[in-house]
Amino acid sequence: MRAAIWTPRLKPQTNGLQTQPGSTHRTCDHTRVIDLHAHSTCSDGRLTPTALVARAAEAGVTTFALTDHDTVDGLDEARTAADTHGMTFINGVEISVTWQRRTLHVVGLAFDSRNPSLANGLATLQQARRDRAARIAAKIEKLGVTDALPRAQAMAGDGQITRPHFARLLIEDGICRDNNQAFKKHLRPGRDAHAAIEWAALESAIGWLHAAGGIAVLAHPFGYGFSGAWRQRAIAAFAAAGGDALEICTGTTDRQQEVTAARDAAQHGLVGSVGSDFHAPEQFWLGLGRLRALPGDMNAVWHDARFKV
Ligand code: AMP
Ligand code: MN
Ligand code: MN
Ligand code: MN
Repeated sequence: MRAAIWTPRLKPQTNGLQTQPGSTHRTCDHTRVIDLHAHSTCSDGRLTPTALVARAAEAGVTTFALTDHDTVDGLDEARTAADTHGMTFINGVEISVTWQRRTLHVVGLAFDSRNPSLANGLATLQQARRDRAARIAAKIEKLGVTDALPRAQAMAGDGQITRPHFARLLIEDGICRDNNQAFKKHLRPGRDAHAAIEWAALESAIGWLHAAGGIAVLAHPFGYGFSGAWRQRAIAAFAAAGGDALEICTGTTDRQQEVTAARDAAQHGLVGSVGSDFHAPEQFWLGLGRLRALPGDMNAVWHDARFKV
């Protein structure tokens, strides 16, 4: 099993889950509990695909997607595990995109994981990750981390090397207190250990997913630190590029954000998706499948014909 690499970065919040009258506590579609965004050790998650699926099953999730950053490597293992739990498994991925010199995340769902267009696209991103890893490693060595690249590689194992791996090295070598500080002081754009990277174009990411018969979801619209105007622009650009859905309910959204996102989605003809973005059990305030239902009568991505469940 690969090493744990995630530590909490967001403040605990209840999002009204305990208090809001009428809250479902779960994204239910009558009998289903749905979670379409989570990470394993194939990227920056802490649990193996098998352990993640077991935890989701324990949490009562019935329809689940594994969405690792820029890789589909965990899907076969996760699907096998899901079968043993009688859980409906949906192929997923979270593709890194560069749009207007900013990073967006496009979650892909229900695609053919062996499609060559998608595989080639992800391969270019994986190469870009490897190149960036060497550049970040050189920068954190200047900050006092020793053997940064081999240690990051060992930590990631066969999985993608992500910035949270470097955050962990900064913590291990006593340079940072926690993940949050590592990002704030060193790994964010503009900081001394940030390395620029050109991810996929928005149209490319959506194109690969569509070529593979899948659905493109703009992930966590409130997760980019954008102003309202930039959020609107990003959603409009995503819809114009052929995107299908917007992630409405996540592990860190409040109801007001969800209602706002649902309105934005309706304006651009996007349907709604839901996903915790679970990375690790240490995210104690964020549970697999512990999501509110989509607001109002919003159309759900799982009713799309391509969802095939
Ligand atoms: P990468 O795709 O390798 O650049 O890493 C992105 C991942 O780092 C995200 O998916 C989050 O899990 C994590 N992350 C991004 N920004 C922050 C932040 N400000 N603080 C803590 N973790 C972050
Ligand atoms: Mn992540
Ligand atoms: Mn993301
Ligand atoms: Mn994610």
